[in-house]
Order: sequence, then C-alpha cells, then structure tokens
Amino acid sequence: MTCLKPEGAIPGPRVNGRDFNAYDTMEPRAPAPVPAPYRNGKPVKDANLAPRGLYRPDYRVMTPHMRSPEYVQMSTAAAITLGLVEGQMHRCSCTRCLNLLLTYPEGCRANCAYCGLARHREAERNYADRNFIRVDWPAVAMAEVVDRVAADPDTPFHRMCISMITHPRSDADTFTVLKTWTDRIDPSRIPISILSNPQTMERADVQRLHEMGADIFTVALDAATPDLFDRTRGKGVQSPHSWKKYWEILEDARDIFGPQKFGAHIIVGMGETEYEVMTLVQRLVDMGGHSHMFCFFPEKGSLMDHLPATPRDQWRRVQLARYLVDYCGVRVEQMKFDDQGRIADFGMPRTELDAIVGAGIAFRTSGCPGKFADDISACDRPYGDSPPSNIASYPFALKEVDIRKVRSQLDMLRPGESYDDGEEFEAL
Ligand code: SF4
Repeated sequence: MTCLKPEGAIPGPRVNGRDFNAYDTMEPRAPAPVPAPYRNGKPVKDANLAPRGLYRPDYRVMTPHMRSPEYVQMSTAAAITLGLVEGQMHRCSCTRCLNLLLTYPEGCRANCAYCGLARHREAERNYADRNFIRVDWPAVAMAEVVDRVAADPDTPFHRMCISMITHPRSDADTFTVLKTWTDRIDPSRIPISILSNPQTMERADVQRLHEMGADIFTVALDAATPDLFDRTRGKGVQSPHSWKKYWEILEDARDIFGPQKFGAHIIVGMGETEYEVMTLVQRLVDMGGHSHMFCFFPEKGSLMDHLPATPRDQWRRVQLARYLVDYCGVRVEQMKFDDQGRIADFGMPRTELDAIVGAGIAFRTSGCPGKFADDISACDRPYGDSPPSNIASYPFALKEVDIRKVRSQLDMLRPGESYDDGEEFEAL
C-alpha cells in the first residue's frame, strides 16, 4: 500500500475485531407478521382525517389521510430550506436538492431491511410518520411546494428529485407530480431527477419521464451484489424486488437518458467486500453512468437497526476509490485488494492521491450534480447517513480540520500531522 501509517491515526470502530462490515455480521432480522387491523394503512383510512396544511410527523396523534399526487413528503432539510419548518442544520445553511417522496396511507409495499419506510413497520408507525435516512419527512400539498419555488427567483435549490416507492399508484403519480412541477417551473432552471422504483416500471415509463423533462434517472440498487440484494430487498425479507428487474430498468435508463444522465445508489457496508463494491462502481462507469454512495447506518425501526454502522476506515477507502474511478480516470484493475477484499492500493501515485484527498470533494455527499461542478452533488442529504458528530458524507465543503480527520481515518496523515477527535467542534 502506498499510504503511510503515521503516529496518531484514529482507527475506526472495530466490528468483531475487523475494520469493515463483513457478510456474516450483517444479517437482517426477519420481519414480524403485521396484524390485519394495521395492514395497508387501515387506521389512517378508517380515521380519514383531512390534512390541514403542513403535517409534521408525530406518531402520538392520528396521521391525516394524505395521498400523492396531491400530497408529497420532503426531507427535513428541504422543509427547512423551503421555509416550511424552522430549524438549523449543523454547518449547513440549506440543502441544494428538493427531495420529494410520494406518500400514501398504504405506504411502501416493499420491506427493504435497512429502510425506515418498510412495510413491516405498519403496526408500529403510520407511513407518513416513519423516519427515513435518519430524519422525519414532513408532508405538504404539492401545489404549495410549487407555489413557493415558483415565487422565489433566488431559490437555493439546484435540483428537484421525485422519489418513487413501491405502490400500485407510484408510476402514474410520478408523472402527475412531474407535470405539476414543469407546468410552473422550467426544468432548465431547476433540473429534475427521478429516483425510480424499477419493480413496477417498464421501458416506456422511463421514456415518458425523459420526454416530460426529467434530466437524470437513478436506480437504487442499494445492495452491491445479487446475493445481498436478495437478502436485504428480496426473498430474504419478504420483499418483492429483483436484481434482474433493477438492471433491466438501469439499462433502459442508459439507452434513453444517455451518458452521465443515469446512475445507481449503492449502500456501503451491508456485507459486501470493497472489491465487490468497486467492481460495481467500475461497471456503472463503463456503462456511462455514476454511482451515488451512502454509508450504511442502522436506521431506527428497520430490520438492520441492531447492526453496526460502517466503520469509517472502510467507508473512506470506498469513498475515495469511487471518486477516483468516477472522476479521475483510475480503473479498478489498477487498484490492489488484500485477501479480505479491502483496498490496499488506490492505483495512483502518492503525491497525486494526496492532492485529491486534500481537495476534500471525494468525501462530500455523492449524488446528482448541482450548479457548482460536475463532481459536487446538489443532493447533499445533511446527516442522512451519519450523525453530525461522526460525519460519513460531508454535506458541505471540508475545512482543513475535516480533511485532517479524513486523513486520520484513512491512515494517511502526513508526516508531523495529527488529529484529535473533538478538534472539529472546538474549531467551530
Ligand atoms: S422500496 Fe425504497 S422506500 Fe420501499 S422499503 Fe425499499 S428502500 Fe424503502
């Protein structure tokens, strides 16, 4: 390995003595059966309460009856940025991506093991009250979202994204939400991404979304291998998804949206090896697309909430290697991996690698680009994959102290350099 291991490097948390989440550790719980009175959003439909303005998730009161396409949910960061809720985000003034999530009392009909929206939670929490990527998702009328964005000539949003879920209405309602937006907001002013649900889609749906003005189409593979996909999103957890169908739609997106306009989400640390995830990253680049990465975090209420978050050593290695493949022309064949599949050499001379680490962009949240640069994501998802105290994906430009922290996690501190945990907060 070309990297030095200096004094003072901070090791990540160890899981069974290892600096990575191995397959044998990352076994999801089996979903418990849901009693009939709680299935398919029955309590919400029976109560049938009319929504009154913005709904902030609160499982202590009955959830109103809200449905897309009239209603959508949005991330807490987007709701703060849009002025719908008050709040502050650690070291971020706003988010650059308006993430909209389709909503129904029946919720998502899939059961993905790492996801807070999954169907197995029906008895515990109504759909619109469920946490997703660590935060609440307030619900609001789509008309109000469009009114607010259309009326703001200085909108901070660089991109809007419609997140589909697994529901019989999801395809049709995505078209309607998209049209509601483009009727009022020029897609060249705020480009649109679609986070698709391939399981219910056909090639013609992908084509139609493109013709309606969507700019980028993404597929949330999430799991890096067919086996992990089946374990976490398919038969392993009584969920309907299939690796084959996801790839069919991903290939349709490649054909229809074209180079640099499609991508796949991948969660790192669910039991795949670093070699396996980097092979997938290379496959996507060879197709002409990008990977958008998430660090596994044990989402509360999910079937994997008892499992360890991805150690920072593993996450930083993969984050850096992915950036090299996606934006620096390095190929996975140039990298070296050890006997446990860990990255042992990034395939780039030390001085060049050092400069890329020092620029910090590799460690920012990855996703669809905004208006700053091709390699800076609009979708910054503040603290969606970690707490602010131990950031996995940085939703802001890294300062010197952040870069030293990252270097220490990578065992790449320079001679004479050190980092003490807690320094970041002292520096603010
Ligand atoms: S399909 Fe998406 S929203 Fe539904 S459970 Fe799976 S990851 Fe969550």
